[in-house]
Amino acid sequence: MNNQTNIVKEISILYELSLAIGCSLDLEENSKIFLERLMSRKALAFAGVWIDKNQLHFEEQIGRNCELAYGTPKVRISENPLNNSYKYISERLIKESMFSVRDSEADFKEVIQEKNIEKGVYALFRLGNIGFLKLYSTKSTTFSKVEMFQLRNVLQKFTISLEACISHVSLKSEIENRLRVEKELAQSEEKYRLVVQSLSEGLMVTDLENKITFVNEAICRLSGYSKTELLGEIAYKKFLPEAEWKSIEEKMMERKAGNSSNYEKRHIKKDGSAWWGAINGSPLLDTTGEIVGSLAAITDITDRKLAEEKRELLLKELEETNKELDDFAYIVSHDLKAPLRAIGSLSDWIYTDYAHLLDEDGREQMNLLRGRVRRLHNFIDAILSYSRIGRTQLKVEKFDLQLLVERIIDLFEPLHNTKIIIPDKLPIISGEKVRIGQVFQNLISNGLKYNDKTNKVIKISYKENKAFYIFEIEDNGMGIKTKYFEKIFQIFQTLEARDNFESTGIGLTVVKKIVENHRGEINIESTPNVGSKFIFTLPK
Ligand code: ADP
Repeated sequence: MNNQTNIVKEISILYELSLAIGCSLDLEENSKIFLERLMSRKALAFAGVWIDKNQLHFEEQIGRNCELAYGTPKVRISENPLNNSYKYISERLIKESMFSVRDSEADFKEVIQEKNIEKGVYALFRLGNIGFLKLYSTKSTTFSKVEMFQLRNVLQKFTISLEACISHVSLKSEIENRLRVEKELAQSEEKYRLVVQSLSEGLMVTDLENKITFVNEAICRLSGYSKTELLGEIAYKKFLPEAEWKSIEEKMMERKAGNSSNYEKRHIKKDGSAWWGAINGSPLLDTTGEIVGSLAAITDITDRKLAEEKRELLLKELEETNKELDDFAYIVSHDLKAPLRAIGSLSDWIYTDYAHLLDEDGREQMNLLRGRVRRLHNFIDAILSYSRIGRTQLKVEKFDLQLLVERIIDLFEPLHNTKIIIPDKLPIISGEKVRIGQVFQNLISNGLKYNDKTNKVIKISYKENKAFYIFEIEDNGMGIKTKYFEKIFQIFQTLEARDNFESTGIGLTVVKKIVENHRGEINIESTPNVGSKFIFTLPK
């Protein structure tokens, strides 16, 4: 009878214990309810649950990462970090899954982690792979084999409830993490959306059939269409004149091949007006790296294009005006020449036929008159030659500049006390041979003409860079003050009285016009009384 009562008592304790399992999903709370019930039903001094920090790796780590998850009473359990008991306990539990040790056994001290323990008995149970349970009783009669087996069965359930608590925590934190990431993602997407929308540059996404799947505000503003009018439409048909459609289909092929490109197109707005866009198109890839469409960034370049068109128009107008002026100068010079020639001949005849009727003054004035006629003749010739530059397109040819310049020098060299030096061998160049000859001839002639030295020296040299030949013609003449550097290139401008030097003031104007017609530049360096250096470039 007594035995039966005991069995009933045991069963009811086990039932009660099993009811105390899994009352909470909180690990500590769950352990607390179970351990306290265990304490109250068994004669225990304390009980504790140790959980592996790297949860569920108990076996691999041999329990060394275990930490007290819950223990009661708390005072008795204070862990000693130097204690090697974890190693001992876990190694034994891997082999046996449960064991008890009495104070009479040598191993007793190996399991002590608590304060002031000398006597009593310990029972240790492995909790699956997640940790262990430790019970301590001061009475050495507790933890019979039967009791241990009965408890182990209850503890299997307890282990599952602890696993549920651990999963619950990680699930909870996973969910929290996910929610946080989703929130952050939504925030950054919103930020991105705002940036894209507020860009002054147009952004458009099209699919592989060139249908619009996304546009930002700027595209709507530029095109005059609303988003709903654009989404799903074939992009180029909506924005470009029909003549351009084919070229865009080619661009789309490039995109499908994974290539980006930049181009400029005249677009048509909803209201029919035109705008210019510079397009940077690149293939759009999905997360797997597959091309799913095209992303176009479109910048409004209408102002720049209009300015370019205006500039071209102005240049054309300027060219026409220049040509008209040249034509005018040409015709007028031609027409002036005939009567002037007549005046010249008449004044010569008068001079020869009536010289005896004129006194000294009269003859001098006649001479002056003939001189002025000659000067006017020179003027007209100079204007004619100036207006001919660019008016008549001479043949551009390749020629040996050395030979050309040598021939020009021959014209001057017989002059007394004159030396013309070419230190470098001049190159073979392309250009209008006659005109370039004129440039060298005018510059050499000026260098000798405006030269007060007894021994006149002209030095011709050249350098080159990637794009240009740079020629220098240097003299040891009178030199020119810096303030006249611009003036001397202007038409009819001379620095000396025409009576001292018979001149027209056209020579350098002609030189500058020829050089610039060849897309070169001319400059001057000069020191009065020392000499001048004319530097001009001709493109290669
Ligand atoms: P022109 O020689 O017919 O007067 P240019 O246009 O060739 O016309 O020259 C303009 C003026 O520049 C000249 O009148 C002269 O005063 C000055 N000039 C040109 N070349 C030189 C030079 N090498 N040295 C000094 N003065 C020069």
